[in-house]
Amino acid sequence: RSSNKRESSYGITGRAFNAEIDPLIAVIDLRKRFKSLEVLKGIDLYIKQGSVTVLIGPSGSGKSTLLRCINQLETIQGGDIQFEGHSIARGPVDINKVRQRIGMVFQHFNLFPHLTVLENITLGPRKLRKMPTAEANALAEKLLKQVGLSDKRDAYPSQLSGGQKQRIAIARTLAMEPDVILFDEPTSALDPEMVGEVLEVMKDLAKDGMTMIIVTHEMGFAREVASKVVFMADGVIQESGTPEMLFEHPQSERLVNFLGKVL
Ligand code: ADP
Ligand code: MG
Repeated sequence: RSSNKRESSYGITGRAFNAEIDPLIAVIDLRKRFKSLEVLKGIDLYIKQGSVTVLIGPSGSGKSTLLRCINQLETIQGGDIQFEGHSIARGPVDINKVRQRIGMVFQHFNLFPHLTVLENITLGPRKLRKMPTAEANALAEKLLKQVGLSDKRDAYPSQLSGGQKQRIAIARTLAMEPDVILFDEPTSALDPEMVGEVLEVMKDLAKDGMTMIIVTHEMGFAREVASKVVFMADGVIQESGTPEMLFEHPQSERLVNFLGKVL
């Protein structure tokens, strides 16, 4: 991936970022409050390039808030978030640049209803990456092929099924050529028969080496694809490890109870 070639120095060490040993994203003692409600109470999370991290946990445990903090949709009250060793949560940061490198896919697609599929995908590259229209169209067509929806190029979102909308939303995120993609329950709003097609696209991305952080209740997918599973509850990471560690050998009562409900 392109970030291997970037000449950024890694944090205070002054040496170049090395994807082999340095985390692409480091979340360090992250604290987030909404007024008096403490939602994230000291989260430490290291994301290696090319890894797939699956976040699980009960509703209200802070999973969405964590993703939103990483994507600069929330300000934080303590700790830090670093990308390639540089803080993106403190001091002056170009938020648009950060969001270009850290893409996000939401539960409710958020496609523009008045734009065609092609226009939805090319908008970001044309406006934010200043890509010429012909080049942006070619990129969009390549991505439409990748998500299996070449025939929907000129359709409007209202003419698509939920699964198709989500695949377009993924293509739109990919059009920014991000280094990492955050997924917040990407299949939770879908009819059951459409879940598989979206998970397939995500599996292909994982195989291609895309770095991903995924909030999902799809435990089969987590088992198959995750490099690491992170169990959050009450604003802290209760347990994390390989899928086998968490699913076959859960350590805490909390996780045992949670798995009993979702498996
Ligand atoms: P999860 O995604 O794990 O279900 P969230 O991160 O959405 O959890 O929410 C964690 C807690 O933070 C919940 O108690 C929720 O009500 C609260 N919360 C989330 N966003 C806001 C907000 N913008 N203002 C106030 N409270 C919020
Ligand atoms: Mg959520």
